[in-house]
Amino acid sequence: MDSYPAAYSPTGYGIHDGEAVVRTPHTVKTLQGDGVDVICELLAVMDGTTAASELIDRIPEGDAEFIDLLYEAGLAYDARAIPAELKTEGWEGLLEPALATMAHASHRDVPERLAACTVAVFGDREPVSGVCSRLQAAGVSVGDGTADDPDVILLSEQLERSESWTDANEQWAASSATLVKTRLTETGWRLGPVLTADARACLNCVYSRVDANKAGGQLFTDVVTGDPPYMAAYTDTVTEILFRALLGVVPRYLDEQFAVYDHYEGRIDTPRVFASPHCEVCDDA
Ligand SMILES: [Zn+2]
Repeated sequence: MDSYPAAYSPTGYGIHDGEAVVRTPHTVKTLQGDGVDVICELLAVMDGTTAASELIDRIPEGDAEFIDLLYEAGLAYDARAIPAELKTEGWEGLLEPALATMAHASHRDVPERLAACTVAVFGDREPVSGVCSRLQAAGVSVGDGTADDPDVILLSEQLERSESWTDANEQWAASSATLVKTRLTETGWRLGPVLTADARACLNCVYSRVDANKAGGQLFTDVVTGDPPYMAAYTDTVTEILFRALLGVVPRYLDEQFAVYDHYEGRIDTPRVFASPHCEVCDDA
Protein backbone atom coordinates (compact mmCIF):
# COMPACT_ATOMS: atom_id res chain seq x y z
CA MET A 1 0.00 0.00 0.00
CA ASP A 2 1.15 3.51 -0.76
CA SER A 3 2.61 5.56 2.07
CA TYR A 4 2.79 9.31 2.71
CA PRO A 5 6.43 10.06 3.52
CA ALA A 6 7.23 13.05 5.72
CA ALA A 7 10.54 14.43 6.96
CA TYR A 8 11.01 14.95 10.70
CA SER A 9 10.95 18.54 11.83
CA PRO A 10 13.44 20.11 11.60
CA THR A 11 15.48 18.15 9.04
CA GLY A 12 18.63 19.61 7.52
CA TYR A 13 20.65 18.14 4.66
CA GLY A 14 23.38 18.90 2.18
CA ILE A 15 25.71 17.17 -0.26
CA HIS A 16 29.44 17.27 0.45
CA ASP A 17 32.00 15.39 -1.65
CA GLY A 18 29.28 13.23 -3.18
CA GLU A 19 27.82 12.22 0.18
CA ALA A 20 24.48 13.38 1.52
CA VAL A 21 24.52 14.32 5.19
CA VAL A 22 21.02 14.35 6.68
CA ARG A 23 20.32 15.57 10.20
CA THR A 24 17.00 15.16 12.03
CA PRO A 25 16.29 15.86 15.72
CA HIS A 26 16.81 12.12 16.30
CA THR A 27 19.74 11.07 14.13
CA VAL A 28 22.45 12.10 11.70
CA LYS A 29 23.11 9.87 8.68
CA THR A 30 25.60 10.00 5.84
CA LEU A 31 24.31 8.48 2.60
CA GLN A 32 26.49 7.52 -0.35
CA GLY A 33 26.00 6.31 -3.87
CA ASP A 34 24.33 7.43 -7.08
CA GLY A 35 21.03 8.33 -5.48
CA VAL A 36 22.10 11.13 -3.15
CA ASP A 37 20.77 13.90 -5.41
CA VAL A 38 17.43 12.17 -5.76
CA ILE A 39 17.26 11.63 -2.00
CA CYS A 40 17.79 15.32 -1.33
CA GLU A 41 15.12 16.20 -3.87
CA LEU A 42 12.74 13.82 -2.15
CA LEU A 43 13.48 15.31 1.26
CA ALA A 44 12.59 18.74 -0.13
CA VAL A 45 9.18 17.69 -1.40
CA MET A 46 7.95 14.99 1.00
CA ASP A 47 5.30 16.90 2.92
CA GLY A 48 3.26 14.05 4.35
CA THR A 49 0.28 14.83 2.14
CA THR A 50 1.66 13.51 -1.17
CA ALA A 51 1.67 9.77 -1.78
CA ALA A 52 5.05 8.10 -2.31
CA SER A 53 4.04 7.00 -5.83
CA GLU A 54 3.26 10.59 -6.81
CA LEU A 55 6.57 11.87 -5.43
CA ILE A 56 8.43 9.28 -7.47
CA ASP A 57 6.61 10.29 -10.65
CA ARG A 58 7.41 13.94 -10.04
CA ILE A 59 11.15 13.55 -9.70
CA PRO A 60 13.36 12.43 -12.60
CA GLU A 61 15.07 9.18 -11.61
CA GLY A 62 12.73 8.91 -8.64
CA ASP A 63 12.37 5.35 -7.39
CA ALA A 64 10.58 3.65 -4.52
CA GLU A 65 13.88 2.27 -3.27
CA PHE A 66 15.00 5.78 -2.26
CA ILE A 67 11.92 6.32 -0.15
CA ASP A 68 12.41 2.93 1.46
CA LEU A 69 16.00 3.90 2.18
CA LEU A 70 14.84 7.08 3.94
CA TYR A 71 12.38 5.07 6.05
CA GLU A 72 14.95 2.43 6.91
CA ALA A 73 17.51 5.06 7.90
CA GLY A 74 14.98 6.67 10.24
CA LEU A 75 15.04 9.89 8.20
CA ALA A 76 11.35 9.89 7.26
CA TYR A 77 8.07 8.69 8.72
CA ASP A 78 4.72 7.73 7.28
CA ALA A 79 2.45 10.73 7.90
CA ARG A 80 -0.55 8.45 8.29
CA ALA A 81 0.77 8.04 11.86
CA ILE A 82 -0.43 11.52 12.82
CA PRO A 83 -4.04 11.65 14.10
CA ALA A 84 -5.99 14.30 12.16
CA GLU A 85 -6.79 16.62 15.07
CA LEU A 86 -3.22 16.51 16.38
CA LYS A 87 -2.07 17.74 12.97
CA THR A 88 -4.76 20.42 12.78
CA GLU A 89 -3.54 21.80 16.11
CA GLY A 90 0.10 21.74 14.93
CA TRP A 91 1.14 19.27 17.63
CA GLU A 92 2.46 16.47 15.39
CA GLY A 93 6.02 17.20 16.52
CA LEU A 94 5.14 15.75 19.94
CA LEU A 95 4.51 12.35 18.39
CA GLU A 96 7.51 12.33 16.04
CA PRO A 97 10.10 11.24 18.67
CA ALA A 98 8.07 8.07 19.29
CA LEU A 99 7.79 7.38 15.54
CA ALA A 100 11.55 7.69 15.13
CA THR A 101 11.95 4.61 17.37
CA MET A 102 9.31 2.50 15.57
CA ALA A 103 9.41 0.57 12.29
CA HIS A 104 7.80 2.68 9.56
CA ALA A 105 5.47 -0.16 8.61
CA SER A 106 3.77 0.21 12.01
CA HIS A 107 3.27 3.99 11.68
CA ARG A 108 -0.05 3.77 9.85
CA ASP A 109 -1.64 1.91 12.78
CA VAL A 110 -0.69 4.58 15.34
CA PRO A 111 -3.95 6.61 15.26
CA GLU A 112 -5.99 3.46 15.79
CA ARG A 113 -3.72 2.35 18.64
CA LEU A 114 -3.88 5.72 20.38
CA ALA A 115 -7.67 5.85 20.01
CA ALA A 116 -7.85 2.61 21.99
CA CYS A 117 -5.69 4.00 24.84
CA THR A 118 -6.68 5.44 28.21
CA VAL A 119 -4.64 7.64 30.53
CA ALA A 120 -5.73 7.91 34.18
CA VAL A 121 -4.66 11.17 35.83
CA PHE A 122 -4.01 11.25 39.57
CA GLY A 123 -3.15 14.34 41.58
CA ASP A 124 -3.11 17.91 40.37
CA ARG A 125 -4.80 18.19 37.00
CA GLU A 126 -4.09 21.87 36.36
CA PRO A 127 -0.31 21.66 35.65
CA VAL A 128 -0.95 18.89 33.09
CA SER A 129 -4.10 20.32 31.50
CA GLY A 130 -2.11 21.15 28.33
CA VAL A 131 -0.81 17.59 28.23
CA CYS A 132 -4.36 16.23 28.53
CA SER A 133 -5.66 18.35 25.65
CA ARG A 134 -2.83 17.18 23.39
CA LEU A 135 -3.51 13.54 24.24
CA GLN A 136 -7.21 14.02 23.56
CA ALA A 137 -6.43 15.65 20.21
CA ALA A 138 -4.64 12.39 19.36
CA GLY A 139 -7.76 10.39 20.25
CA VAL A 140 -6.51 9.16 23.65
CA SER A 141 -9.16 8.88 26.40
CA VAL A 142 -8.16 10.87 29.47
CA GLY A 143 -9.91 10.05 32.72
CA ASP A 144 -9.33 10.47 36.44
CA GLY A 145 -7.99 7.87 38.85
CA THR A 146 -11.16 5.79 38.57
CA ALA A 147 -10.66 5.13 34.84
CA ASP A 148 -11.01 1.47 34.02
CA ASP A 149 -7.89 -0.48 33.05
CA PRO A 150 -5.70 2.48 31.99
CA ASP A 151 -2.65 2.04 29.76
CA VAL A 152 -0.79 4.84 31.52
CA ILE A 153 -1.21 6.19 35.04
CA LEU A 154 -0.09 9.82 35.16
CA LEU A 155 0.67 11.15 38.62
CA SER A 156 0.88 14.91 38.61
CA GLU A 157 1.72 16.49 41.92
CA GLN A 158 2.71 19.75 43.45
CA LEU A 159 3.34 18.00 46.76
CA GLU A 160 4.76 14.57 47.43
CA ARG A 161 2.84 11.92 49.29
CA SER A 162 -0.74 12.97 49.01
CA GLU A 163 -3.35 10.23 49.08
CA SER A 164 -3.39 10.18 45.30
CA TRP A 165 0.26 9.18 45.38
CA THR A 166 -0.54 5.99 47.32
CA ASP A 167 -3.63 5.27 45.22
CA ALA A 168 -1.72 5.65 41.96
CA ASN A 169 1.09 3.40 43.15
CA GLU A 170 -1.30 0.68 44.28
CA GLN A 171 -3.36 0.82 41.11
CA TRP A 172 -0.17 0.57 39.05
CA ALA A 173 1.06 -2.46 41.06
CA ALA A 174 -2.24 -4.26 40.44
CA SER A 175 -2.35 -3.54 36.69
CA SER A 176 -0.29 -3.82 33.54
CA ALA A 177 -0.15 -0.04 33.11
CA THR A 178 2.94 2.17 32.90
CA LEU A 179 3.22 4.77 35.65
CA VAL A 180 4.58 8.22 34.82
CA LYS A 181 5.18 10.66 37.65
CA THR A 182 5.83 14.32 37.07
CA ARG A 183 5.86 17.65 38.87
CA LEU A 184 6.89 21.25 38.34
CA THR A 185 9.62 22.61 40.58
CA GLU A 186 10.79 26.15 41.34
CA THR A 187 13.42 25.93 38.60
CA GLY A 188 12.07 23.41 36.11
CA TRP A 189 10.52 20.02 36.53
CA ARG A 190 11.07 16.58 37.91
CA LEU A 191 9.89 13.88 35.51
CA GLY A 192 9.86 10.26 36.50
CA PRO A 193 10.23 7.68 37.44
CA VAL A 194 8.60 5.95 34.51
CA LEU A 195 7.67 2.50 35.75
CA THR A 196 6.59 -0.02 33.13
CA ALA A 197 4.52 -3.02 34.22
CA ASP A 198 7.63 -5.14 34.85
CA ALA A 199 9.67 -2.45 36.66
CA ARG A 200 11.65 -3.75 39.61
CA ALA A 201 10.79 -0.87 41.92
CA CYS A 202 7.74 1.22 42.79
CA LEU A 203 7.06 4.65 44.27
CA ASN A 204 6.84 3.14 47.73
CA CYS A 205 10.41 1.89 47.28
CA VAL A 206 11.58 5.32 46.20
CA TYR A 207 10.20 7.17 49.18
CA SER A 208 11.00 4.45 51.73
CA ARG A 209 14.61 5.07 50.78
CA VAL A 210 14.21 8.81 51.05
CA ASP A 211 12.84 8.32 54.54
CA ALA A 212 15.58 5.90 55.52
CA ASN A 213 18.63 7.85 54.54
CA LYS A 214 17.60 11.23 53.14
CA ALA A 215 19.60 10.37 50.04
CA GLY A 216 18.69 9.61 46.43
CA GLY A 217 15.58 11.71 46.63
CA GLN A 218 13.94 14.76 48.03
CA LEU A 219 10.55 15.55 49.44
CA PHE A 220 9.01 18.72 48.11
CA THR A 221 6.99 21.01 50.29
CA ASP A 222 6.87 24.03 48.02
CA VAL A 223 4.02 24.73 45.63
CA VAL A 224 4.70 26.12 42.18
CA THR A 225 1.89 28.39 41.10
CA GLY A 226 1.17 30.58 38.11
CA ASP A 227 2.67 30.14 34.68
CA PRO A 228 6.45 29.68 34.94
CA PRO A 229 8.56 30.49 31.84
CA TYR A 230 9.26 26.79 31.30
CA MET A 231 5.56 25.77 31.26
CA ALA A 232 5.38 25.25 27.46
CA ALA A 233 8.56 23.13 27.46
CA TYR A 234 7.21 21.14 30.40
CA THR A 235 3.94 20.43 28.57
CA ASP A 236 5.80 19.34 25.42
CA THR A 237 8.18 17.08 27.35
CA VAL A 238 5.49 15.32 29.38
CA THR A 239 3.28 14.88 26.30
CA GLU A 240 6.15 13.37 24.32
CA ILE A 241 6.90 10.91 27.12
CA LEU A 242 3.24 9.90 27.40
CA PHE A 243 3.02 9.19 23.67
CA ARG A 244 6.12 7.05 23.99
CA ALA A 245 4.71 5.21 27.01
CA LEU A 246 1.39 4.57 25.23
CA LEU A 247 3.19 3.18 22.19
CA GLY A 248 5.52 1.03 24.28
CA VAL A 249 8.71 2.91 23.42
CA VAL A 250 9.74 4.47 26.75
CA PRO A 251 13.11 6.19 26.37
CA ARG A 252 15.95 4.37 28.09
CA TYR A 253 17.03 7.41 30.05
CA LEU A 254 13.72 7.45 31.91
CA ASP A 255 13.13 3.78 32.53
CA GLU A 256 13.25 3.47 36.33
CA GLN A 257 14.94 6.85 36.50
CA PHE A 258 14.11 10.45 37.24
CA ALA A 259 14.99 13.27 34.88
CA VAL A 260 15.45 16.44 36.89
CA TYR A 261 15.52 19.42 34.57
CA ASP A 262 16.77 22.83 35.62
CA HIS A 263 15.50 25.48 33.21
CA TYR A 264 17.82 28.22 34.42
CA GLU A 265 21.01 26.20 34.44
CA GLY A 266 20.03 24.11 31.38
CA ARG A 267 21.00 20.98 33.25
CA ILE A 268 19.42 17.51 33.37
CA ASP A 269 20.25 15.02 36.12
CA THR A 270 19.01 11.44 35.95
CA PRO A 271 19.12 9.81 39.38
CA ARG A 272 18.30 6.13 39.34
CA VAL A 273 15.41 4.44 41.16
CA PHE A 274 16.34 1.46 43.34
CA ALA A 275 14.02 -1.18 44.72
CA SER A 276 13.56 -1.25 48.46
CA PRO A 277 14.09 -4.73 49.95
CA HIS A 278 10.84 -6.23 51.22
CA CYS A 279 8.69 -3.43 49.82
CA GLU A 280 5.11 -4.01 50.94
CA VAL A 281 3.71 -2.98 47.56
CA CYS A 282 5.99 -4.53 44.92
CA ASP A 283 8.23 -7.09 46.61
CA ASP A 284 6.19 -10.14 45.55
CA ALA A 285 5.49 -8.80 42.05
ZN1 LIG B 1 8.14 -1.11 45.89
